[in-house]
Amino acid sequence: MSIGFPGLVREAGVVGCGGAGFPAHIKASSRADTVIANGAECEPLLHKDLELLVREAPAVVRGVRLLMESTGATRGIIGVKKKYAERLAPLSAAARGAGVEVLFLGDFYPTGDEYILVYEATRRLIPPRGIPLNVGAVVSNVESLMNMSRAADGIPVTSKYVTVAGAVRRAVTLEVPLGTPFGDLIRAAGGSAAGGDVAAFAGGVMMGSLTTDFDQPVTKTCAGLILLPLTHRLVARTSLTPAAMHRIGKSACDQCSYCTELCPRYLLGYDVEPHKVMRSLSFTATGEDVWNRYADLCCSCGLCTLYACPEDLYPREACDGSKADARARGVTWQWKSAVTVHPIYDGRHVPVGRLMKKLGIESYDVAAPFAEIPLSVRKVTLPLFHGAGAAARSLVRTGAHVSRGQKVGEYTGEGSGANIHASIDGVVKLTGDGIVIEQQEERSRTHA
Ligand code: SF4
Ligand code: SF4
Repeated sequence: MSIGFPGLVREAGVVGCGGAGFPAHIKASSRADTVIANGAECEPLLHKDLELLVREAPAVVRGVRLLMESTGATRGIIGVKKKYAERLAPLSAAARGAGVEVLFLGDFYPTGDEYILVYEATRRLIPPRGIPLNVGAVVSNVESLMNMSRAADGIPVTSKYVTVAGAVRRAVTLEVPLGTPFGDLIRAAGGSAAGGDVAAFAGGVMMGSLTTDFDQPVTKTCAGLILLPLTHRLVARTSLTPAAMHRIGKSACDQCSYCTELCPRYLLGYDVEPHKVMRSLSFTATGEDVWNRYADLCCSCGLCTLYACPEDLYPREACDGSKADARARGVTWQWKSAVTVHPIYDGRHVPVGRLMKKLGIESYDVAAPFAEIPLSVRKVTLPLFHGAGAAARSLVRTGAHVSRGQKVGEYTGEGSGANIHASIDGVVKLTGDGIVIEQQEERSRTHA
């Protein structure tokens, strides 16, 4: 019996590559009138979506068409940055031939936020706490769409596009086996160019996570690494403990409200007001109940903390804390359903160039072209849990020999979760929360 396109997508383990790792088969099973491919890629210095769109245009366009057929959508739109129009001419031609539109977006941050992208593409506003489906749209990252196209041919997800940039000798975009250690990526980019200790932002400087653990593996949601010297102010700022951020914010916030005035969600018409959330730092639980609600619709883009606040405070982190607190206490806020775009929305976008200057990373703003670098990845680690949803169940035991593409983890639940496939040939070792696969030759050398 045919399992259909959503079944193939589920079997191949396709998840959202652009954020939370939401399983793609759930989107493929939904009904919508518009499919939007998210190629906005607004995180500074990351170029993996651009390089993928140049290299894999036919597969992305086919993914859009397949998702349109599966959801019943009559309109397909690929959102990309206008500044790359020339490089993306082949994509535009392929899209035109398939009846898919290419939407050229401005170079501002965060164009890739779903609420903003849906508005830019359709002029529809997602209701507060809603998802694109609430306004008839399905949004999917361009890499996820390429993976859906491969899934339709029975090819599972075993690799990931990543950019390695920042303080490296050669900024580069690669397609690497899932589970590749960060250290292998940095070596492929020629190693550190910092001349001292470095840290990496996995997934980008605005919304990624900071790490110095280069044994960490590339996951299905990792867009790349931005290496920075340990002494860089962004590293220092991000390394502060939540308690220190809280203490500084409590004493130094003068309620100027710049964080709110530049908040993209606020400008789109949502009740996000980080300056009010900052007030909660000074209050007891009763006060938090008043102010925390203004964090509820925050998308954690980081613009308030890293760009807007003249005092270098941490309103994004205050919002994250407020959201976590509300979740822990089971608090849900009620919002008006009508959203009205702020009259100055179009005039107050933050250009990515200006953002990079403020972040102190403009000297690293170079192309990161795709390179066919043969990585000798000897060991990969595949987490059983990928972002959204529940963990998969391992199908293999320690000592098993597996081949690239073989299903090694299965998600059988009805909700969110994803299958896992071996990304290299090798021998399995199970850890508590993942599957390690080591190449046999390496293993025998190790045990010789
Ligand atoms: S911009 Fe900074 S100082 Fe001004 S209200 Fe926001 S957190 Fe406070
Ligand atoms: S992180 Fe700050 S700027 Fe971004 S949505 Fe949240 S409150 Fe607004």
